[in-house]
Amino acid sequence: MLQSRPVDVQRVTTALGDRSVVLVGMMGAGKTSVGRRLAARLSLPFIDADAEIEAGAQLTIPEIFERFGETYFREGERRVIARLLTGGPQVLATGGGAFMNAATREAIAARGVSIWLKPDVEILLARVRKKPNRPLLQTDDPEATLRRILAERAPTYALADVTIESREGPHEAVVDLALRRLAERLCAPAEPPAARPGAPAGPRAEGRRDAPRADRIVVEVPLGARAYAIHVGSGALDAAGPEIARIAPAAKCAVVTDSNVAPLYLKRLIASLGKAGLSAAAVVCPPGESTKSYAEFARVSDALIEARVERRDVVVALGGGVVGDLAGFSAASLRRGVRFVQIPTTLLAQVDSSVGGKTGINSPHGKNLVGAFHQPSLVLADSEVLDTLSAREFRAGYAEVVKYGLIDDRAFFEFLESRWRDVFSGGPARAEAIATSCRAKARVVVADETEHGERALLNLGHTFGHAFERLAHYDSRRLVHGEAVAVGMAAAFRFSRELGLCFGQDATRVEAHLKSVGLPTRIHDIPGLAADAQSILAAMRQDKKVERGRLTFILARGIGASFIARDVDEASVVAFLERDLRLPPG
Ligand code: NAD
Repeated sequence: MLQSRPVDVQRVTTALGDRSVVLVGMMGAGKTSVGRRLAARLSLPFIDADAEIEAGAQLTIPEIFERFGETYFREGERRVIARLLTGGPQVLATGGGAFMNAATREAIAARGVSIWLKPDVEILLARVRKKPNRPLLQTDDPEATLRRILAERAPTYALADVTIESREGPHEAVVDLALRRLAERLCAPAEPPAARPGAPAGPRAEGRRDAPRADRIVVEVPLGARAYAIHVGSGALDAAGPEIARIAPAAKCAVVTDSNVAPLYLKRLIASLGKAGLSAAAVVCPPGESTKSYAEFARVSDALIEARVERRDVVVALGGGVVGDLAGFSAASLRRGVRFVQIPTTLLAQVDSSVGGKTGINSPHGKNLVGAFHQPSLVLADSEVLDTLSAREFRAGYAEVVKYGLIDDRAFFEFLESRWRDVFSGGPARAEAIATSCRAKARVVVADETEHGERALLNLGHTFGHAFERLAHYDSRRLVHGEAVAVGMAAAFRFSRELGLCFGQDATRVEAHLKSVGLPTRIHDIPGLAADAQSILAAMRQDKKVERGRLTFILARGIGASFIARDVDEASVVAFLERDLRLPPG
């Protein structure tokens, strides 16, 4: 366990990269003393933001407050901290109010790892009594003022990456604790929290079976006669031949893909299939949502018939959710059902659409209205093919990854908060995030394959999100699905907060994380969405998941504690939307 081993300081600084360790917390918390010692242990420079501000202004902080007021000071403080953060790595101590500023918090989240030093309130009082020149404590009753400020600020300080609670004692003990927590946070094994009991087989141990590459994770979906495996990790694409040959020896493979993906990966796939003795034909569709149409369904199905795909053969979907849904539906219908293999190439498809067996196309009356449940026989999610995905599409898929943490896995959400950069840049953390998401989806699918109950939890953020997509006329230049889900999830948490269900800090934390990766979180982040509360409600009512006019939301009692709320009162939805529409863009 990390607690009993000495901390590998070198590993911490390597994992830190050019990010800074930023100490936040109340005046008197010991940020400067602890910061200096921590910097020495990490062999990094120590910078005190307040000292920088004073040097720049040639005035003390009480003087700046007195001459120009707090607003002026906070704006200067924000600028100084943003500038200092570009000079990392370093240990940076910030003033007590700095972390209260949303823009400063965001800058810290982007370029630093924050530590809240949270000493006992009596210690704070004793230290502050010794240094009475704090501008905010120039009141008749400084102790009462300090307690009030602490109560007001604590929920925001709690948003820091790491919290260190300390009692009176040597600063070195606090530094040791801070180093340990940093090591846990930054150098945790790439594996996110372990699968829970009863969950489908987890990645590493038993799931690895005879996977040909050491860095491949296998997640099982135990659906009895329809059970299948999801292979996650680099090299999964090139392993398609042997893996498909294992489940369908000597089968004919008909690959359905789109014209963006074909030039990137089709040749590699066909080569792998050929090497494993599998013959292959290919059908290339136009890219985009309009491909999920009756016309393309007919064209693809006829092409499969012409390629003489028979019951013992395999349809292979190589592409994003559009290709997977269309090819899956063709496979479900062709000869009343042939096997199909998903090789998802978008993050959304890897963590969501390729798992669970929902296939289908759109009707002029709405999305996904025609389709079938048809489980794949195998899913090969190669985490490296995501490198060619646009940043926007990757981010959109990431919203669905975050969703799994928010539904019922707080530890996974925390893993994402600390490791999202690694997930975006690739490597083991990305594969682990995909595998954890697949396990979460598999768990829900196994419990409720055809969506009569618990599977509805996967719609977190979707009641709001679908309404926004509808109001944006499904125009992907304005809003793609994952972005709508991001705004929808942030709204679901704000709504839960308003209903008194969840702590405000959880709602703030959800919003802050989505925002830090560049996802929209507010209704006014959606370009050109000129909707009022009633039109959003009307769009929600058109959702196919509305049952007999009853609005269903997925609400939350906190991060990782979502639940299905049927029959939500429309008046409270409208009141919430009216207030939410008054929020500025995020
Ligand atoms: P998509 O399939 O349209 O792919 C997005 C874009 O990325 C396309 O232009 C595609 O050509 C391109 N692309 C795909 N892989 C690439 C790669 N590796 N490199 C470069 N470009 C690449 O969109 P999507 O977001 O993957 O899927 C959206 C669809 O999924 C929707 O139709 C939605 O209804 C469906 N969906 C289905 C389920 C389900 O359970 N079946 C769940 C969620 C979403």
